[in-house]
Amino acid sequence: MARVLFLGGLGRSGTTLVERLLGELPGVCALGEVVHLWQRDIRDDERCGCGAHFSACGFWRRVGALAFGGWHNVDVDRVHHLRDAVERTRHIPRLATAVEAPEEVHEYADFYSRVYAAAAEVSGARVVVDSSKHSALAHVLRWSGGIDLRVVHVVRDARGVAYSWTKTVSRPETDGSDQMTRYSPGRSALLWNAHNAAFSLLSRRGVPVHRIRYEEFVADPRTALTALAEFAGVDLGPADLDFLHDGQADLKVGHSAAGNPMRFTVGQLPLRRDDAWVRSLPPRQRRLVGAVCAPMLRAYGYPVFREDAR
Ligand SMILES: [Zn+2]
Repeated sequence: MARVLFLGGLGRSGTTLVERLLGELPGVCALGEVVHLWQRDIRDDERCGCGAHFSACGFWRRVGALAFGGWHNVDVDRVHHLRDAVERTRHIPRLATAVEAPEEVHEYADFYSRVYAAAAEVSGARVVVDSSKHSALAHVLRWSGGIDLRVVHVVRDARGVAYSWTKTVSRPETDGSDQMTRYSPGRSALLWNAHNAAFSLLSRRGVPVHRIRYEEFVADPRTALTALAEFAGVDLGPADLDFLHDGQADLKVGHSAAGNPMRFTVGQLPLRRDDAWVRSLPPRQRRLVGAVCAPMLRAYGYPVFREDAR
């Protein structure tokens, strides 16, 4: 049974950074955002984290062969149909309260569990990391009998998340033809509440959920990774965190299938807290996001008002 560390949270919360550092631990294989593998990789042949196009990456070729007898055997239309039928935020209440999940939930989860099992075998890893983030997918995977699911819930200050969603970021894997989605701060604030609440609900349904705050993770990655390794059941030796240096990490090539452009970074990755929002998010928007997210900001230990923030 594959042990899966699922990184959850609203996008722009730092999950890619967490994934990249987890991928450096012994016995851990980071897969990127598997939720996008079906369209962006199997169908569109975008670039793997190693730089090769998906179809040319030896790691993913072996995974596809083992999981499905080759990626050409995956019915991507069927995956999309299942995703639309079961993996939506509005489906979470049903997924969380059902006594037995509909067959489509099991069928959809099976596509993922095959990828996880094959990736674990090809890489020889004890733990695979899926940084898909989507709370609805985590609720779907809860129903999979074939995986040992553990969820890392990554939380970041809602105002930092909202500011990040207003920025334009290009997607290098599409060779410059596409940009990442943007949201208004009001929309981000609502999504922030919904997705974070969904992970608390998952925990109440018995799935092991370990919550980390992005800001603390960046401030002290050594301590945070030690705790995450323990949560994932990974034994760390004395030299296993030597890739961490003062204010930076030394990264090897990874095979992240999809996600934030940071997945292409090899070598030195600066570990600096991104708090540009403190200077650049307009006060009106900051107050709006603070008000909409106030209860959960407080619950996670963030100051709600600007005066407390610095
Ligand atoms: Zn690759």
